Amino acid sequence: MTQQNTEILSVKLAEVKHRIEQTSRLYHHLIVPKLLAVSKKHPAEKIEAIYKLGQKEFGENYVQEALEKIQQLNHLDIIWHFIGPIQSNKTRAIAENFDWVQSVDRMKILTRLNNQRPESLSPLNVLLQYKVGDENSKSGACQSEILDMLDAANNMIHVNIRGLMCIPPPSNNRQVQCSYFSEIMTLFKQLKSKKPLMDTLSMGMSADLEAAIEMGTTMVRVGTDIFGSRC
Ligand SMILES: *Cc1c(COP(=O)(O)O)cnc(C)c1O
Repeated sequence: MTQQNTEILSVKLAEVKHRIEQTSRLYHHLIVPKLLAVSKKHPAEKIEAIYKLGQKEFGENYVQEALEKIQQLNHLDIIWHFIGPIQSNKTRAIAENFDWVQSVDRMKILTRLNNQRPESLSPLNVLLQYKVGDENSKSGACQSEILDMLDAANNMIHVNIRGLMCIPPPSNNRQVQCSYFSEIMTLFKQLKSKKPLMDTLSMGMSADLEAAIEMGTTMVRVGTDIFGSRC
């Protein structure tokens, strides 16, 4: 990393944090949402540079790519989130190497993660991915599947369901963005009345984080606006 590139990252990270803080203030939220830096397709040295600026939580989408970076960066105290689509033959690697998994969208995956989480590690933090907006979207569970997974998790001691995640269809329209986020917020509140310990709603990315904060997100996942475009 050149000095100049490190400075660019530093400015971009500060800008994203500023947007998050300003928007939270605008809507009078008491708690500023957590920032997850999405580092897919960016090299370990860039992650290390951002880590040194104080960012501790990073999200990755591809298991093989992530394992290489986790290995390269194991001298750092990073909290790793898996946020990509999950194939069942990858659950063991995820259960063994990540702190959080945000993209659990079916029972089979949840069960495997619980069975494969090593006893020596604390329970895996899990977000259930809710399919919002687009009925045809590939990933995400519907409401009844979410409820089934939540019930089943009562008997799983190696996973800890922390809340919900969603990736709505892209839209430039703030009202449309807010309507997706409001739909998942309604479900989140309903689930929280059964499971008060659920504390995380992961929604909002580079292009729609303001709308997500307006609607009360607790975690935004930002890639492009921190790291620049992906090659
Ligand atoms: C890539 C990705 C992000 C970050 O998207 P940007 O538009 O680059 O901020 C967030 N969440 C998920 C699940 C992703 O795959």
